[in-house]
Amino acid sequence: MSEDCCAIPTARAPLPTCPECGQRTRAVAVATVRHHVRPDLVATLGEGQYGFCDNPRCSVVYALAGGPPLRTSDLRTRVGLKQTEDPVPVCYCWSFTERQIVEDVLAHGRSTVREYITQRVADGACGCELNNPAGRCCLGNVGAAIKKGERELLRRGDAESFDKLRMSERRGEEALGQSETRLVGKDV
Ligand SMILES: [Zn+2]
Repeated sequence: MSEDCCAIPTARAPLPTCPECGQRTRAVAVATVRHHVRPDLVATLGEGQYGFCDNPRCSVVYALAGGPPLRTSDLRTRVGLKQTEDPVPVCYCWSFTERQIVEDVLAHGRSTVREYITQRVADGACGCELNNPAGRCCLGNVGAAIKKGERELLRRGDAESFDKLRMSERRGEEALGQSETRLVGKDV
């Protein structure tokens, strides 16, 4: 392993367009491409500026000017935005899928996943540049999955249970606070 194994190169060359759908790609570091490509293909990777194709209907993930593109089948990572069937990965640092994020919102009336991720990011534990095949922060995609959960909550007409859940959570916290006070009072 080289000594700069954690450094993500930021040099920018002209970005390739996707050879399949013709869409503009977004710059992605070679280190990120190497991280997600199937192990048997790592040695065959060409050098140069890779671009990530974020068209959900296109099978190309990485384009490289003058080289063959890498498709979803060439990767060991499932690219969430190109998947229509579960599991659809959304947060790659802590392995949350779209379904998990939606079900968390349905169960709690809010996103405890977002609270978890926000806390972990504040801890400095985020590694989207490498973990996310798009090579960038996945919080936007997490937000979209939460919105999907909220729409589902409203569609089910659960606005009332949404409020009830909030109330019961608050009561739960108060009860916890009281039991802690009692324990302190008992001098255990
Ligand atoms: Zn494409």
